[in-house]
Amino acid sequence: MRECCHSKRLKSCTLELTSQIIAMPDNRKLSVSPLVCFRCGVCCVKYQAILTLNEAQGIANYLEISLDIFINKYIDHSWPGTDALLISQRDGGCVFLEQDKINNNATACLIQRVKPSICRQWNAGVYRKECQDGLFKYWKIRVSHTGLLEGDEERLRDFHSFVASLS
Ligand code: SF4
Repeated sequence: MRECCHSKRLKSCTLELTSQIIAMPDNRKLSVSPLVCFRCGVCCVKYQAILTLNEAQGIANYLEISLDIFINKYIDHSWPGTDALLISQRDGGCVFLEQDKINNNATACLIQRVKPSICRQWNAGVYRKECQDGLFKYWKIRVSHTGLLEGDEERLRDFHSFVASLS
């Protein structure tokens, strides 16, 4: 069952991301998918990515530097592990995280194409605290206990348009 506000008089509305189609206030119907990563970067600030030596070599190749330089520059040497490495943080977030140059509501990963498998396996979701924090920080949108996005109608529409622009 799709859900969104249908009355222009409402100040807030909800958007059910598990639906295939949502009805907009102007009766347009938009197809939606479960929450996809909208690149808020909260998880990249909260966690440090772990990677194998092979992955480190792959990133070093991508950056066109040697593995030694990569390890010196981008690996957190306080981590005691030997089989796996930990990517450093800078300014409280992953060293490869930067603000998106075009969109202030998004971040960018400088090694997106070759990022570690741990980052690839991390999926966004409405019930993830990190994604909820990002939704509120950048879009002032909250998630209801039933997984609906709630907030100002215009913000929800802008958010949906933004997410669609990412695909
Ligand atoms: S917190 Fe969620 S939406 Fe934000 S970057 Fe991480 S996975 Fe993507």
